[in-house]
Amino acid sequence: MALLFLSDSDDPVAWNAALAKRVPGLDMRVWPETGAAADIDAALVWNHPPGVLKAFPKLRAILSLGAGVNHVLDDPEIPADIPIARIVDPGLATGMAEYAALAVLRYHRNFDVYERQQREQRWRRLPIPVTTARRVGVLGLGEIGSACARMIAGLGFPVTGWSRTAKSLPGVACYAGPDGLAPFLNTTDILVCVLPLTAATRGIINQTTLAKLPRSAFLINIARGAHVVDQDLIAALDSGQLAGATLDVFAHEPLPREHPFWSHPKVTLTPHIASITNPETAADGVAENLRRLHDGRPLLYLADRARGY
Ligand code: NAP
Repeated sequence: MALLFLSDSDDPVAWNAALAKRVPGLDMRVWPETGAAADIDAALVWNHPPGVLKAFPKLRAILSLGAGVNHVLDDPEIPADIPIARIVDPGLATGMAEYAALAVLRYHRNFDVYERQQREQRWRRLPIPVTTARRVGVLGLGEIGSACARMIAGLGFPVTGWSRTAKSLPGVACYAGPDGLAPFLNTTDILVCVLPLTAATRGIINQTTLAKLPRSAFLINIARGAHVVDQDLIAALDSGQLAGATLDVFAHEPLPREHPFWSHPKVTLTPHIASITNPETAADGVAENLRRLHDGRPLLYLADRARGY
């Protein structure tokens, strides 16, 4: 029994060290040096080349190296009956919440404006806005969205959230389902997107939804780039409907050099680093799933293929 490690960005040495401490005798093979294909019974993957996993005839589980599984489900050739599990890691959720809180505070305290003013050597003081009057809305209230909502509410902002099914989170006004989206957006001054990318959420940040936000709202997208219709976002920024956007994720990564986001004065972007899976905090869950697989017990953190997350 062996674990295949296949990632375009995660460190196999660090993962091997973190997992070997928790799973004695672990046999981890790093793509493409996999040895006999029939040895592999589990795969730990991030952005694997589509089609490659079908080469392992005894594969029994696919473990995502991230919280999302859309990169796995995008492969039309993954065997239909293999369970797919994702990472649930408090360290990952904390990193995401820190990023979201930082971006919220940066807009709330006008640092985006002061950065522009510094470039122009302009000394102009702006009023300090009231925290309790700045409404933050979080799209997605799962492991990461709820961590973001909690941290931002802890800073004193009124926080609302939107999810597929009804939720109850202390200190967060919760909306759910398609009918809850418009009232949620209508009362959101800073929108934080932490949804999984599914058929239902692809392109959800578009001309129609952006128009439902109060004028001069802000967007923080730390989920997936394809949640956003890029040209609709640029139109909303140019018209003043949106005052700024902080984007960590893009439909095509790395973001192509010619993309208008790079130079848009109201866009702040980062290279998909809102949080990065850290083997030291994430390995416990992966190790537990490897033990469960080998004992024939159900895996934790399973994705529902029909739902897409
Ligand atoms: P999760 O625990 O599965 O939570 C997903 C949340 O989205 C749930 O609240 C779910 O509603 C809601 N949702 C899903 N489909 C919906 C729909 N159609 N309408 C309304 N709400 C919907 O996922 P997570 O662990 O929080 O992760 C969220 C995403 O963050 C990941 O999928 C990944 O793409 C992204 N991410 C990005 C980075 C980065 O560095 N940029 C890092 C980690 C993760 P229910 O509660 O009703 O199920």
